[in-house]
Amino acid sequence: FDYAAPVNEPVYSYAPGSPERAALKKQLAAFKAETADIPMYIGGKEVRTGKTVDLRPPHEIKHKLGHFHMGDASHIKDAIAAALEAREKWAKMDWESRAGIFLRAADLIATKYRYHMNGATMLGQSKNAYQAEIDSACELIDFLRWNVHYLSEIYRQQPVSSPGIHNRMEYRPLEGFVLAVTPFNFTAIGGNLPTSAAMCGNVVVWKPANTQVFAAQMFMKIMIEAGLPAGVINLVYAPGPLIGDVCFADPHFAGIHFTGSTGVFQTMWKTIGENIAKYKTYPRIVGETGGKDFVLIHKSADVDVSVTALARGAFEYQGQKCSAASRAYLPSNIAEEIKSKLVAQLKTMKMGTTEDFSNFINAVIDERSFDKIAQYIDNAKKDPAAKIIAGGNYNKSEGYFIEPTVIETTDPKYVTMCEEIFGPVLTIHVYDAEKFEEIMQVVDSTSEYALTGSIIAQDRYAVELATRTLENAAGNFYINDKPTGAVVGQQPFGGARASGTNDKAGSMLNLYRWLSARAIKETF
Ligand code: GLU
Repeated sequence: FDYAAPVNEPVYSYAPGSPERAALKKQLAAFKAETADIPMYIGGKEVRTGKTVDLRPPHEIKHKLGHFHMGDASHIKDAIAAALEAREKWAKMDWESRAGIFLRAADLIATKYRYHMNGATMLGQSKNAYQAEIDSACELIDFLRWNVHYLSEIYRQQPVSSPGIHNRMEYRPLEGFVLAVTPFNFTAIGGNLPTSAAMCGNVVVWKPANTQVFAAQMFMKIMIEAGLPAGVINLVYAPGPLIGDVCFADPHFAGIHFTGSTGVFQTMWKTIGENIAKYKTYPRIVGETGGKDFVLIHKSADVDVSVTALARGAFEYQGQKCSAASRAYLPSNIAEEIKSKLVAQLKTMKMGTTEDFSNFINAVIDERSFDKIAQYIDNAKKDPAAKIIAGGNYNKSEGYFIEPTVIETTDPKYVTMCEEIFGPVLTIHVYDAEKFEEIMQVVDSTSEYALTGSIIAQDRYAVELATRTLENAAGNFYINDKPTGAVVGQQPFGGARASGTNDKAGSMLNLYRWLSARAIKETF
């Protein structure tokens, strides 16, 4: 069974007056008219604990979308038991049969539940229609289809045989269960982390961020409709530390597929290390953990290309992509022109709810995040090394709104040039246009994270020099483009250093981590 490379799912534009826009608006209204009661899904059963947490759109915090039922340690244990029971059949199933379920789920999103997925992401995570479309529709569909394709490529990789000897490789699932922990910022990551492991024959306990639950449960229901057997993926809601305590203490723990903060990942890694002697097999540890992504502009750069890379790279989805541009280096010869055009462009970006499709900027995810971002802005207002040249205002009376903010600093090592903020804040530093090599050294030495980065230059030698000099500073490197928006099948995504294990989401590199191969030799 060779599953040929699929075509990327086309992106709907939701243009004014289009039937797609009308359908999406209808779905948004339907979600707002009801109050969802969201269970966990354990062993194919809906589980309600009565201990509920409210869900509210980050841009309209007075409205209740629904609530979900919070689990405790016993539910996590039930989820592990259900997963291990399901493994008996799932791991032995023909992989072609498993693949059909994921391909069907992709088709269901594309044709039947596109507006449900996008509507849930728009309300639950405050993404505008376009940002939702490229995430909860296109990227999620692409992950499902491309991973089936990549897996078919892996399975057919076989060693050579010779007269009298038959060699073969069996790509088996891990012996145990996989824990998937997913973030708020991409519904597609929520879908990918459990399904990529499950597709390989693994069974999964899936814990999404509380702020992703609205879209996550929608996807879980689609997987069930697509035919996913009970217990293969178990969706549980519980405090993060509790999930870790229970799962990492279990001898059947076989791997973690994680996207989230560096701090949490490091804590998990330590706990897994402390428990290492308990496990039946060495767990696979796969994580994507943040970034402090750069845009380096050379003196030969096209000004408009630079402005677009900054405006879109830094402020789409309020800067809450791991890949978001958050530090930029502007050459002195064109810095003033770039700054004034950027500031003018930011003034045209409307901010408000996601239901009004003319808003480019929506709310940040929650109060904790809002307060943290606001603190960075306030500190910059007081610091002589920093100056706010755009935005700087915020308000949380109706929703967690923060204006797109640009901080200019004379210090290339200023705190907001180094620390991850995860919000609509871009810090820029103007450097002497003749000192390109020096600034590249600064970029590299301040790249504690190494997720994404861009070089903007028309001079091909500068492009080449930056590509070589910054070879370890970004797992996804962009030439004359913004550092965000990796497309599955086109730019496999992930970074090293403090950004993660660089097991590129949506690629064979990632899928290999969920397989445990057996080499078989037969002589005759
Ligand atoms: N893959 C996304 C992008 O290229 C970012 C994913 C993330 O934020 O984790 O923009």
